[in-house]
Amino acid sequence: MKKKRMRNKKNISVKAHKKRKHGIMDKEKAAQNVSPVVKKYWFQRYNLFSKYDKGIKMDEEGWYSVTPEQIAIRHALRCVAAIAKPKPVVIDCFAGVGGNAIQFARMCCSVVAIDIDPKRLELAINNAKIYGVQHCIDFIVGDFFQLAPSLKGDIVFLAPPWGGPSYKSIENFTLDFLKPRDGFTIFQFAQAITPNIIMFLPRNVDLQQVEELSWLSSPPLEVEIEENYLQNNVKGVTAYFGGAACH
Ligand code: ADP
Repeated sequence: MKKKRMRNKKNISVKAHKKRKHGIMDKEKAAQNVSPVVKKYWFQRYNLFSKYDKGIKMDEEGWYSVTPEQIAIRHALRCVAAIAKPKPVVIDCFAGVGGNAIQFARMCCSVVAIDIDPKRLELAINNAKIYGVQHCIDFIVGDFFQLAPSLKGDIVFLAPPWGGPSYKSIENFTLDFLKPRDGFTIFQFAQAITPNIIMFLPRNVDLQQVEELSWLSSPPLEVEIEENYLQNNVKGVTAYFGGAACH
């Protein structure tokens, strides 16, 4: 009896070992199939989406621009803490592949996710399904600047394109490096919707300029700036304005 049990145990462990080995080989193969630019980010895939293996889809831009999951969770927690109502409406104006929109939705926010590129929103919809939150997000294909006058929400979330990985080589990232328009213009459009704004910016952003954004309002908006770390590395800077700032 004892012998039989031991043999079974051994069989199971051989199978598990084969499966593990297979899994590692599959992952190595997958890593070889990605472009050199993406490779570096691919190794951080679980930092970007913890459910990566469940079928997350990305394009090249998504790999280097999506907000890492832990930082997106932080944004969502702050959003819920700032707006004292059960289902705050968050407008994610440059939604990309959905990194932030998904976490807002998971935190019970009602989300409007806007992107000018339908292919990117398709990826975002797929990714939201993986997290089971697609029903909490209204996906809108369109130009934020055209849509802004008709939008209503409790918080506007801005993670505008930083201009690709080359942003790192800029010593002082001024707000006019942001795409598709400079940071002041983007902020003014957001401000017309609500003074409660969260803006995710590169770690080398000109902090003086970020503070100046609050002066676009009269009286000036409260502003709070934090650095966002991931595994001891600064990944970005988040500026909270108006009701989104800690009072
Ligand atoms: P994420 O980090 O969430 O993946 P990205 O930084 O990749 O987001 O997203 C920037 C997104 O902004 C891109 O998907 C791009 O298509 C989108 N975008 C650029 N211009 C506009 C615009 N005028 N209106 C709405 N979305 C835009």
